[in-house]
Amino acid sequence: MSSPSPHRGYKAIHRRVLTMLLIMSLTPLAALGFFCMDRITAIYDEKISAGLEAVTSSKHRALDTFMVERIAQIKTLVFTHSYDELSNASRLSSIFSVMQSTSRSFVDMGIIDMNGRHVSYVGPYDLHKANYAETTWFAEVLRKGVYVSDVFMGYRHVPHFVIAVLRHEGEHSFILRATIDMEAIDALLRRVYSGPSSDAFLVSEQGVLQTDSLFNGPIMSKYALPAERLARNSVVTQIQTTADGKEMLAAMMRLESMPWVLVVMDDVHAGLKPLRQLKGFILLFTVLGGMLTCVGAELCTRRLVASLEAADQKQAHIDAAMLQSSKMAALGKMAAGVAHEVNNPLMLIQENAGWIRDLLEDEDAATMQNYQEILASTEKIEQHVKRAKAITQGMLGFGRRMNPERTEVLINTLADQAADMLKTEAANRNIVIERRYDPQVPVILSDPSRLEQVFINIIDNAIDAMGKDGSISIETHAHNGGVRISFTDTGPGMDKETLHRIFDPFFTTKKVGEGTGLGLAICFSILEKLGGHIDVQSELGQGTSFTVSLPAEPPQMTSEERAEA
Ligand code: ADP
Ligand code: MG
Repeated sequence: MSSPSPHRGYKAIHRRVLTMLLIMSLTPLAALGFFCMDRITAIYDEKISAGLEAVTSSKHRALDTFMVERIAQIKTLVFTHSYDELSNASRLSSIFSVMQSTSRSFVDMGIIDMNGRHVSYVGPYDLHKANYAETTWFAEVLRKGVYVSDVFMGYRHVPHFVIAVLRHEGEHSFILRATIDMEAIDALLRRVYSGPSSDAFLVSEQGVLQTDSLFNGPIMSKYALPAERLARNSVVTQIQTTADGKEMLAAMMRLESMPWVLVVMDDVHAGLKPLRQLKGFILLFTVLGGMLTCVGAELCTRRLVASLEAADQKQAHIDAAMLQSSKMAALGKMAAGVAHEVNNPLMLIQENAGWIRDLLEDEDAATMQNYQEILASTEKIEQHVKRAKAITQGMLGFGRRMNPERTEVLINTLADQAADMLKTEAANRNIVIERRYDPQVPVILSDPSRLEQVFINIIDNAIDAMGKDGSISIETHAHNGGVRISFTDTGPGMDKETLHRIFDPFFTTKKVGEGTGLGLAICFSILEKLGGHIDVQSELGQGTSFTVSLPAEPPQMTSEERAEA
């Protein structure tokens, strides 16, 4: 039987199943990957900025303490000593050396009158002639009483800053001015936080560096502070890009004692290295997992669709066979009915022909005028009735259920017998019958005479199809405990339409009188009863191949079937 191709869109099923599988497996994977990445980044960011913030805040405290102490020292000095004492250079010098003994952060110190001139001075520079009346810090201290300057170059052309305190004592008004060594501040900054990838420095509110910065230039350079005003006591962190394109995390905090901002910078990338590695791993595993999932899903889908296709094909086969069986059952019944009805008149005709023959025997052949003609006609009637009876007998056999014989059958021998029956016919038409038998085929239980009928039918059809010149190859082999025998011819083959109908009773492409269309239908029904089946493969112009499959033994008939048979 030609295997009907089931009409499902397997490509579409494949696509749908694959899409669904991929969506269901990749979505959680991607979500997990994304979530991990996001969380890790957030946690790392927090940790890094928290570390930097802690460093900044502690350094901020140290700087503030330092500044507050210095200012308090100067204030105390001014208000606990009289003008007379302080304007005395040697007294001032001894006070200064006491101060230096506790902390070496002061460079020099001087008392300045309201005209901006030194009354007394102690320090390494020669500043006795300096006049500060025009300087900013001088104006500021007169206005505010206490003033701490930003870093400036001044007369000595070295960066420094001053703390100045104004005191009115009776008729005397004077200013104590002390210079702070930048080294002291630098040391403070360095001590708390330093390394090749980090930087700590001070910036004035006007955006001028008050100390050297590793990444932002030397002291007095410009530095862009964030636009919004920094609140005291809180650290602001932000990512900054240095001049050489390095991305750094900067933490900023305003000093309380001074209008300066402490900035601590750290290389984010150095800190983020383990994070980057971890992220890389997660990405790698996610991508690998995704790829594995894709491959797995594709393989699974292929398997699934393939088994679905196989199951469909099998079902289609079963459906086709069922359809054929029921068609045959119905047509077979009708054929049997017709055969039965035709049989009775045939019997009558035969009987009457016999009667005529008997009557003729009583006559004298010499005297009876048409004796010979009547005898000849009677013989012809008997001959044709015989032929018609053979046909009806065939039809009856095909319609009726039969109880198959269960005899040991050697399929190779049986095939030989069938081939031998048609040997002469084939030879006359120059058709070669090739035999390729598997010597290992098992002996099976079956009905040899019916099987022979099947084989003869098939070979006969092949000879008819080829007409003359060609070959039929008969092959046998063991199959599933039973046997398989195939008949392949080099004939014209069949088109799809013919192929679909060849097992239908009375379907024939032969001329009237040449074919009954019952051959293959009978084959089909015989094989069905023997528990086997017949398949055909044919292509127009390519020849035809019939394959008969038989089980080790035919199925047992049910008692019901036996009663019907
Ligand atoms: P019949 O031989 O009386 O025509 P069958 O049932 O034996 O009836 O065959 C039905 C039809 O199947 C044939 O008429 C023929 O068209 C086709 N057929 C059978 N066997 C072959 C074959 N080997 N090559 C080509 N066509 C075939
Ligand atoms: Mg035939």
